[in-house]
Amino acid sequence: MKVRVIKGTNQIGGCITEITSDSGTKIIIDYGEDLNDDINVSTKYPIKGLTFGKSKYKGVFITHSHGDHIGLISDIKKDIPIYVEETSYKIFKVSNSFSSSIPFNGDVNTFKFEDKIIIDDLVITPYRTDHSAYNSSMFLIENNGKRVLHLGDYRKNGYSAEIFYDNLKKIGCVDLLITEGTNVTKDSENDTEIVLKEKAKEIFKKYKQVFILQASTNLDRLKSFKEAALEENKKFILDISTANILKAIDDKYLNEDNITVWVPNTYLNKNSKFYEYKEENFYETYIEPFKNLNIKNEYTHGEYVMLVKTSMLNDIIHNLKRYRDNACLVYSMWPGYKDPNRPNTLKAIEFIDKLKELNIKEEYLHTSGHADVKTIKEVFKIINPKKAIGIHTIDNEKLSKLLKNYVTIKDKEYVEV
Ligand SMILES: [Zn+2]
Ligand SMILES: [Zn+2]
Repeated sequence: MKVRVIKGTNQIGGCITEITSDSGTKIIIDYGEDLNDDINVSTKYPIKGLTFGKSKYKGVFITHSHGDHIGLISDIKKDIPIYVEETSYKIFKVSNSFSSSIPFNGDVNTFKFEDKIIIDDLVITPYRTDHSAYNSSMFLIENNGKRVLHLGDYRKNGYSAEIFYDNLKKIGCVDLLITEGTNVTKDSENDTEIVLKEKAKEIFKKYKQVFILQASTNLDRLKSFKEAALEENKKFILDISTANILKAIDDKYLNEDNITVWVPNTYLNKNSKFYEYKEENFYETYIEPFKNLNIKNEYTHGEYVMLVKTSMLNDIIHNLKRYRDNACLVYSMWPGYKDPNRPNTLKAIEFIDKLKELNIKEEYLHTSGHADVKTIKEVFKIINPKKAIGIHTIDNEKLSKLLKNYVTIKDKEYVEV
């Protein structure tokens, strides 16, 4: 086998890995957008044989539903199959419909964890890992007795940590390990989601109304906040996009007694300008089923924890002006998303500033979706690879010092397995 990182040995996000079998069969792992891209700069990354020209790839495997791993799949040539874990794909479909005006209508082959996928002389087995995007995969790729493990994005501080470590033990030693190194430059250890939940309870005690800004795909965080809210006797209110993600995963969520959803007025008015830019049937698919579960305006006076989105700013301000006693906003994402020195952060900054004008205090509570140094070392010890390479990192040198058998490579350089 031969492996090369087409892009991503020296950047976080937008990593693309190519694997070539002994007989020349080629597959790609992950095809997403760069995180650093300015909104005015095209996020496209055309690859010959993948997006144009004669197809040379037999499959594209996606590790998880984050945009930097899946975001460019609509550009892939239609005769190249795309493989995504079934729940991850449902999550991607809903979040894509909410965030963009163009629905994804391509063909995708969904798989279940540990289903073996055979393409010519390659055998690809997906295993569940632990990451901030729900149901993330790592891939074991086997060819002629050689084994490569692509870990995708991972950590061990979430609710799937145990499954992740059990799977690593099941996989055992490999010839080449492809690891991410997002947090390699940091010395601190990540809080677990359980610790975060306890910290959330302390914050919830101080305020009557709590608004939460978090990623919709982070269902571990949702669980932490939901449990913390209920233990602090506060209602837990979902925003409409998160509610739809839960519904897509399992319809029973809609029937739960205590489910409460907030549908902003912008979404309720089918004739509003908002709908000019939405896919056909957006209202019928995503709004209609929740109309009866929508919280009443008068009710927003009570004690609650509510998920919000920056796109719902005007509706939130409208509500806050009338109903608010002692409220705070919990920012629960990577701080880079509100860093004025980074591109595409204007919406988050405006959101936080507007709420500050209404005297809403800002609290920060987050734990990383990426492995800390201790976890990287532990994973390395379990897998004990003959060779290792790093992606999704800005510090290859640090990784090379941490891990034995580490090979420092540049983008597009081949590693023989
Ligand atoms: Zn990533
Ligand atoms: Zn990710």
